Amino acid sequence: MALTETDLLDALDDPALGFINFSLGGVVQVSRQKFGVIREHILAGNILVTSWGETHAQYVASDPPVLYMQNDTSPVSTHARALLLHECTHAIVHVFAVNFGELDNEVTAYLLQVAYQLVKNPHYATAPNNAPWFKFFDDCLTLVKKRGLNLGGYQLLSFKEVQPLEDQMPSLPGGFYKDDASRTSPGTGLKDVKPFIPTNEPVSGRAQYAAHETYPEPSDGYLADLLGRRYAKDDVAGYGGRVRELEAVFRRLSKAKATGLYPRLAMRVAGDNISMSFHDHLSTITRNRMLVIVRSRM
Ligand SMILES: [Zn+2]
Repeated sequence: MALTETDLLDALDDPALGFINFSLGGVVQVSRQKFGVIREHILAGNILVTSWGETHAQYVASDPPVLYMQNDTSPVSTHARALLLHECTHAIVHVFAVNFGELDNEVTAYLLQVAYQLVKNPHYATAPNNAPWFKFFDDCLTLVKKRGLNLGGYQLLSFKEVQPLEDQMPSLPGGFYKDDASRTSPGTGLKDVKPFIPTNEPVSGRAQYAAHETYPEPSDGYLADLLGRRYAKDDVAGYGGRVRELEAVFRRLSKAKATGLYPRLAMRVAGDNISMSFHDHLSTITRNRMLVIVRSRM
């Protein structure tokens, strides 16, 4: 099974993050508390989560931001979690509007990624890779160990200390750090922030729906109404609320209902209100995300 949002939420809730608390230049703090904020933003729908076919994950600081999870299997390995948390470090930079250069942003994320692996496994060693990437990761590990970024105490890194790492990045194979500005734009903050869901609400309930539990099926009338509602262009809260409601409903679909609904959602069927609203009122990213959920119920 592909990675799920629950895998990501669990990674952000990993007690191992309690051992990580560092800052590059004093302008961004990477800590369990900050990851907790990102987790809340995901639950509130302020950061959208989806998966794609690539082997790497990516955080796109769009409006709203989207975190693309890598093509991997659930439940996640430590390595897969480290990749997800790397992207969540970019989310911290974005959400907290950190004034960073692109490479500062990247090096912070890589140091977190390696520090996390070292917390999870004190004998962690750099995995085999092509020479430039191996050297880069191994140099990250050396710095993490030297500064004890896995040991729990607060550590302040200077820009000078990470300069040798940043210098390697533009020539790393893959060309990730050349001119892909959207990948790691410095923090601008979230444009619209929906309130966090109170923690005593069915937040974790999403993961608790047992297979044998039954919920009333959404009627066509209800779905047509939910999908058909019109929101003003700037009503992000209204739009986001619909997406969350839809997601909650889809996550509980019976096999029969999901099987009947899927073809109506996968393609725009003229004359079918639900199908047309689904295509006309939701973004491509949201549609794809919803289709994944419906498919998972079939
Ligand atoms: Zn990155």
